[in-house]
Parts: sequence; structure tokens; C-alpha cells
Amino acid sequence: MPAHQRADILFKVVRQLEERKEEAARLLALEAGKPIRTARAEIGRTIATYQFAAEEAKRIYGETIPMDAAPGGEDRLGFTWREPIGTVVAICPFNFPFNLVAHKLGPAIAAGNTVVLKPAEQTPLSSLFIAELFQKAGLPDGALQVVTGSGRELGDALVLDERVKKITFTGSSEVGKQIKAKAGLRKVTLELGSNSGLIVEPDVPVETIVPRCVEGAFAFAGQVCISLQRIYVHESIYAEFAEQFIRRTGQLRIGDPLDEQTDLSAMIHERELARIDEWVQDAVRAGASIGCGGRREQSVYLPTVMLDVKPDMAVSCKEVFAPVVSIVPYRELSEAIAMVNDSVYGLNVGIYTRNLTNAFQAARDIQAGGVIINDIPTFRVDHMPYGGVKESGYGREGIKYAVQEMTELKFVTMKTT
Ligand code: NAD
Repeated sequence: MPAHQRADILFKVVRQLEERKEEAARLLALEAGKPIRTARAEIGRTIATYQFAAEEAKRIYGETIPMDAAPGGEDRLGFTWREPIGTVVAICPFNFPFNLVAHKLGPAIAAGNTVVLKPAEQTPLSSLFIAELFQKAGLPDGALQVVTGSGRELGDALVLDERVKKITFTGSSEVGKQIKAKAGLRKVTLELGSNSGLIVEPDVPVETIVPRCVEGAFAFAGQVCISLQRIYVHESIYAEFAEQFIRRTGQLRIGDPLDEQTDLSAMIHERELARIDEWVQDAVRAGASIGCGGRREQSVYLPTVMLDVKPDMAVSCKEVFAPVVSIVPYRELSEAIAMVNDSVYGLNVGIYTRNLTNAFQAARDIQAGGVIINDIPTFRVDHMPYGGVKESGYGREGIKYAVQEMTELKFVTMKTT
């Protein structure tokens, strides 16, 4: 299928989703428990992601190679083009069932591949909804297959099948590692977890950043791969920051995801509530204190701020993936950077500072896929390169970068004399 047709199909998906965006947002709120305002924001981003993919379909370029740069290369043309990789298996998590699926379907279709999509078992309806839009947009039957069900049961059938040329996975580091081990020589992209950190320098006005930090820690009950989990605040403003952060957290409205006022709702699974409560109680037994929250109420884990947290506590060194954040004081920037880096993860890290030298020191020394200066690590727009180092991932997404990972580079040369 030529590029203009692939782009056209993606543009048609964009238009249909625009027309049905409220229906999609409600579906998302109902199946994932995502507060409706956050769900609408996700649908808005999903539209943008498919739009970027539609545009990208028309600019999958190669390059010319100056063959005469090497002795023996004279009188030769050399150039590259990108070919579709073939069948892509896309395995997705529950937390952004529209937009993270778009980050796989969009570039895969833009690049001319076929896709077998396995949504998370908790959130299959959003993928079926999108598949219908692709069908109506004219994607040939079979070019997109949605397989619903348990990852544990379906995983091997999807991952070990030699007809699959590329596996793109977003989910936990644990499953990501298993997939990579099984993929053999086939290509994989892995978007995994993190315990994202933020550094707050003393020259930043606390009251202007606290609301944004609270949002980064508690949006979708912390069930976000770049949720703000560890905040390192300079000791001179630590008390003021912690006090304002706890006060602001107390203003969050807990309730029904379909209620326009709701900021925070139930967690995805009972098992997850039990896990996070155990981690919080373990931390308290080891000397941490609770600024607010620290317990569950029915299926909601109350937004929790922890103080006196040590780096080896699970709430700090593991991925909490729940509404639990710790605030820790530091003296020197180098000490804060060392604490941020003291992690098996490295996805996005944030730093608030008015000092350009410090900003670039952080950008240089932080071990992460992305450094976000003057915002929280939870910041993402959908065309930026996105992915992690260490146990946070392998490869990059962000439409253009995902297209590169879903195509094969072919080199062609011709002797001209
Ligand atoms: P998960 O790893 O439990 O599941 C993700 C997907 O993998 C699901 O579709 C699941 O069915 C499937 N799966 C499970 N076992 C499998 C196996 N053995 N083989 C193949 N597939 C299998 O993750 P989750 O609970 O849905 O999502 C939360 C995790 O995802 C968190 O760790 C979070 O940080 C991560 N995440 C990362 C990003 C990112 O872009 N880096 C984005 C969102 C979520």
C-alpha cells in the first residue's frame, strides 16, 4: 500500500476519533477507572498521536551515501530506503489504553506493517473501539488483528512465532525482560517502568510549582510510568515545600471517575492496593513517616506523602505505580543527582532550577532517557523521543523514532561506470 493511502487511513482514524471523542473518553473512564477529565486529555493526545503518524507516513526518508569517501568507492551511487519490517506484535498496558496503543498502531501502519495487538486484559474495549475505526477507515481486513486475553497465556504464542518480525511492548520491566529473552534475533522495543525523580532547586518559587508536582504524583492514582515518585528538595526550602505539598494533596477530590470533579479514583486491582499498602507499612516500620494518606479506603489508596524515606525502602527504590510520593531534602546538587541516579530505572527525570549551569549539569549527569528542565518528569508530548535506560526500557518511541524501529534499513549501491 503506498504511503499516501496509509496516511489517508490514519487521517480518517483521526477524524472519526474527533467525532467520537466523548464516547471514547467515557469508555476509558469506565474500563480503566480513569477520571473523566484525565480520560478526555488522553483522547486528545491519542488524536495527536495518530495525526503525527499520518504525517510521518509521508516522510519515511532514506539518505544518499558519499561512496567516494572511501578508496574503492569511486564511481558508485549509494543510498538507503526504509522497508516495512513485516508483522508487528504490540503488547500494551492498562494505564493508557488509547494513547499507548496509538504509539504502536500509528507508526506500525504508517510504516506499512501489519499488526497483532494484545491489549491489557483489564482494558480490551478501547482497542476494539480503535480497531473498528481502522476498519471503517479502509484498512484491509487482517492488517490489524486484536487478540484479547491474559498475557501470561497468550504471551508465548505471540512472542515465539517466527512470522512475527518485531515485538513492541509497553508494560512492567519484569515482563519486558522475559519478552526480550524470548525474542532471539528479532527486534524488540520495550517501554518499561520507573521510579521517576524530580530535583527542586532553592531558587524556585515553591507555590508556583507545588500544584504541578501534586498533579505529577497523583494523576490516575500514580498509575503512570513517569509518575512523580521521588522529590528531592533543597534543604533550605524543604519544610515549606513539604507543608504546601501536603496541604495541596489534601484538596484532591476522590470519587467516581465519571464525576467531573474527581481527581483521583480507584486503583486498577485489589492486588495492587494490597501491595502498595504493604510497602507503605514496611517503610513506616523502618522509620519513614506519613505526611498524609497512608491507607486505603475501599478501592482507593489515599494520596500519600511520605517523609524520612531511605533509599533502600521499597517505596523509593521500586516502582510504586500507586499514589505514593516521597519528599527528601538534599544539600548539594551533585548529591541530589546521585540520589536520582541511585535507581535501577531511568525514564524521565525532572529538575526545577533558575540556574542554567545547574540545569545543564543535571542534563549531563542524570542517567535517564529524558531530562525535563523546569517541569515534572511526567511531562510528555507524543512526537518527542521517549524511552528509558537501565531497566526502564530498550529503544525509543515518539512517532518518528518508532517508525525507525519498525522498519528495516536497506542499502543500495550501483556502479555508474
Ligand atoms: P504488565 O507488564 O503486567 O502487562 C503489560 C501487558 O503485557 C499486558 O497486555 C499483559 O497482558 C501482557 N503480559 C503479561 N505477561 C506477559 C507475558 N508473559 N508475555 C507477554 N505479555 C504479557 O503491565 P501493566 O500492569 O499492564 O502496566 C503497568 C506497567 O507498565 C508499569 O510497570 C508501568 O511503568 C509500565 N508502563 C510503561 C510505559 C512506558 O512508556 N515506559 C507506559 C505505561 C506503562
